Amino acid sequence: MQIQFIKLPNRLDNPGVLMPDLGIGILTAVLRKKKVSVASLDLKPQFLNDPRLQELRTMPLSRAEDGLAWYVMDIVKTRSLTRAKVLGFSLDEETDLPLNLELMRLFKKFTGATVILGGSYYFSPMIMKENDFIDFIIRGDATLSLPLFLLGKEQKKIPGLIYRKGGGVLSNPYFRQAGNTGIIPDYSDFDMKNYRIGLPGCKAHVPKELLKDVLIPGIETSILPYHFIKGCPNNCNYCFWHREKLFETTHPEKVADNLQFLKEKYKADHFIFLNNEFNPSLQYAEKTLSAIKDRRLGITWSDSVHPNNLDEDIFRLFSESGCIQLYFGLESLSPRALKLINRPSDPSRFGAFLKASHDNNIFNGVNFLVGVPFEAPEDIRLTVDFIKNNNKYFEFYNINLLRIFPELVSIRDPEKIGIKIGTLGSAELRNPKGNSRVYDTLNAVGITKKISFYSYDEAGGLNWKEKNRQDLTHARRLLSACDEHKKRFFDDTRLICCLLKSLKTKDLVIKWYKKIKQTKKI
Ligand code: SF4
Repeated sequence: MQIQFIKLPNRLDNPGVLMPDLGIGILTAVLRKKKVSVASLDLKPQFLNDPRLQELRTMPLSRAEDGLAWYVMDIVKTRSLTRAKVLGFSLDEETDLPLNLELMRLFKKFTGATVILGGSYYFSPMIMKENDFIDFIIRGDATLSLPLFLLGKEQKKIPGLIYRKGGGVLSNPYFRQAGNTGIIPDYSDFDMKNYRIGLPGCKAHVPKELLKDVLIPGIETSILPYHFIKGCPNNCNYCFWHREKLFETTHPEKVADNLQFLKEKYKADHFIFLNNEFNPSLQYAEKTLSAIKDRRLGITWSDSVHPNNLDEDIFRLFSESGCIQLYFGLESLSPRALKLINRPSDPSRFGAFLKASHDNNIFNGVNFLVGVPFEAPEDIRLTVDFIKNNNKYFEFYNINLLRIFPELVSIRDPEKIGIKIGTLGSAELRNPKGNSRVYDTLNAVGITKKISFYSYDEAGGLNWKEKNRQDLTHARRLLSACDEHKKRFFDDTRLICCLLKSLKTKDLVIKWYKKIKQTKKI
């Protein structure tokens, strides 16, 4: 076998969205077309569910060394991984890096295979300098680079490859490859039984009256990830996509064809679309929704939407095509703040969109951004007022802090917007208020998430120290406005799907979702 992909587990994994890895599925499809022999293994389901691994999931890494060695050795033996020449690890943005590094070190030790990393995690060459068991990293789109690597192309000619040479680490520039957006991921190596989970499987945690009165026995949901839009046509100045100059969509009929194929082949009933946004234009959104609806696939799905390119009427079509969950990238309710980040949209329409979506039985999530350069308390007040007035129309939220990350995210033309970039520093993200499941888990296992970003001063405004303090105050104001309505944990897509199948209406699902979550976390 030329390459064995391995999806590593995280101590942060959310069982509510357990599904195969999209990146591995796409690479498997691309490599098999090129006759490269490939196999894939997802370690997440076992790590989440095997009671023998309970201790490993919760103990500090320093005390888990023997247990992890036993765990990896067992996988190497039972899966015959010593036959693989190359082990490919896919790391995503939420990767539990300390655990994943230790697991990769052990896989290298017990197999002797070449270790290559890829995925949506931001990789700096530093990670290779600090970890000698990592042989290669591919940054960016691997659908072009990985086949070149496996077929023996000269290393310096492989886009995005980070490799060792002459005692140092070299890094090739990368680019996103256009032309492969419509690829159907190949999930055939994954055991779909691992992703088909229903409420009866968790009945110890479900209130008796729900089991007896309203829950149809045997209801299960199987989730698959898929995407059909690459890049983004917008130019928000804090986002790395504006630098990629890549925007490509799949023809709506082809989207429907691919969904039909995936549904039939893998018996999937819910899809999580991992597009930057479903609606790069109103026309594309309408055509794609109609194509999915007309196919009568009997599926449900989730995705993100930009608050431009929408009207109130389109939410009916969203719902009729199977959409049950939408994340709205609202970012701010202040026209001034939106202008500062070069994200022109009309906040006076946001509330109407959320309501129209809610009225069509769709579960809404909203994303807010804090820390925009020159942001003023008045900008935050507008967003807080919006949350108060519209909280009945959304169920979950994310609050992101705008930071200028090296390479990954870079404010375009900082001088033009009046900021002076300072030094590269780092900070540990903690969750003192306990409002996020991810950070609660990190805290519980005694690790913090470290991020690096640039400081900056506002010309004629706040210096970095003052700005940083203001950002945290603003973030707290938004958090407490949202926390008042206890929406943060409404993120269990699988539970929403299962309940919707049984209860049909959003109001009933919300009632029972809360009851189940209060009884016990499932
Ligand atoms: S923030 Fe979203 S809408 Fe803006 S450029 Fe990035 S991906 Fe596109």
